[in-house]
Amino acid sequence: MKERVAEIKDYMKNRFAGGQTKHAAKDSQHISALLNEILKTTDEMSVLVARSGIEDMSKVLTGLVEKAGAFGGRQSYASIVNTGQPKPSSSPVGEKTFIINKTKQETSTRELLHEVNTGIRKVRAEGGQVKINKVIEGKTSVIVKLPQTEDIDTLINSFKNMDNINGIAKVYPAKMLDPVVAFKGVSSSIKSEELAKSICSMTTQLRGMEDKFKYMFDMKSGSSTRGVVFRVAPSVYRILVGLGRVFTINQVINVSKKVLVRQCQRCYSFGHNTKQCESLGFQPKCHTCGQKEAGHKCTKVISCANCSQHPKYKHEDLSHPPNCDRCPIYDLQFKRTEQKTNYFGLDDQNYESTADVTMAETTNKRSLSPPEGEKGESNKR
Ligand SMILES: [Zn+2]
Ligand SMILES: [Zn+2]
Ligand SMILES: [Zn+2]
Repeated sequence: MKERVAEIKDYMKNRFAGGQTKHAAKDSQHISALLNEILKTTDEMSVLVARSGIEDMSKVLTGLVEKAGAFGGRQSYASIVNTGQPKPSSSPVGEKTFIINKTKQETSTRELLHEVNTGIRKVRAEGGQVKINKVIEGKTSVIVKLPQTEDIDTLINSFKNMDNINGIAKVYPAKMLDPVVAFKGVSSSIKSEELAKSICSMTTQLRGMEDKFKYMFDMKSGSSTRGVVFRVAPSVYRILVGLGRVFTINQVINVSKKVLVRQCQRCYSFGHNTKQCESLGFQPKCHTCGQKEAGHKCTKVISCANCSQHPKYKHEDLSHPPNCDRCPIYDLQFKRTEQKTNYFGLDDQNYESTADVTMAETTNKRSLSPPEGEKGESNKR
């Protein structure tokens, strides 16, 4: 066993020795750490086996599986399915959030924070027991986070009725996005619009829930099959991810979590889509060299349009497209989108309100079908 591990380590070292990129080096480190962990675990296991501690052994194994799942800082889809609990990596627990946004320039966020804390004391004095995870001072607002199980509406209403707050700020719940799933390898014999209905009719847990699926778009794929992407209510998401695969009228299909980063595929900025780009006054940029496209002579050297302009990242590795997960700026947006997604919502209240966001994102197709050489699929983790 030990010899075999040493062998693999050597192999990894050699493999990444030439033309070593930052990520390869990091991956190699991770793999190495994982191998050490496996070694340690096998040692522990042999001790436990000697003592016949089967239960302890399973604990050790579970720990190891978790570590492997967290490899690369992200939880694999498989481990989400295995635990039956959809846990996006970057969001530790589900939270409800509301925002107290200042309406007057002259108010500082520090003053607003003080008023919010005064408000919380007032709620407590009146017997309010609602639990709060944290109160955060933002750039123009104060953000309040509650555990998923708490009654946020009552607290929001209390704040809306406080004179010290509503004179200087607006109070509203944070807009959350509904989760997105992709069905892979869907046969061409079924129309995308019919897919949700078909799945719901074949799945006991999803009976009658087809109105909680919002069709988004088809993904490019093989000749006879395709991927189909839906935005779904949190309850539907948890059922689907728990199942891992579902049946339609004539086949079984795999389902996976998808995170859609809102990125313009014309200039690669975030927060607007390709359709809006021109009217917002942005210039198209080259996907390869990152320069402004108008009359540019492409160097054919891959250089990220976003990183090359960033005060911090311009000094780092630029040899990636601006719309893939090797880009640290894209990666940050990916995590933010994950954090804004309502994986944990206990009710599906939010579902209807986000339907309009969906349409804006459907134009953003290039990032969904990554360019050549990005077959890892930047959106699926
Ligand atoms: Zn743009
Ligand atoms: Zn170019
Ligand atoms: Zn980049």
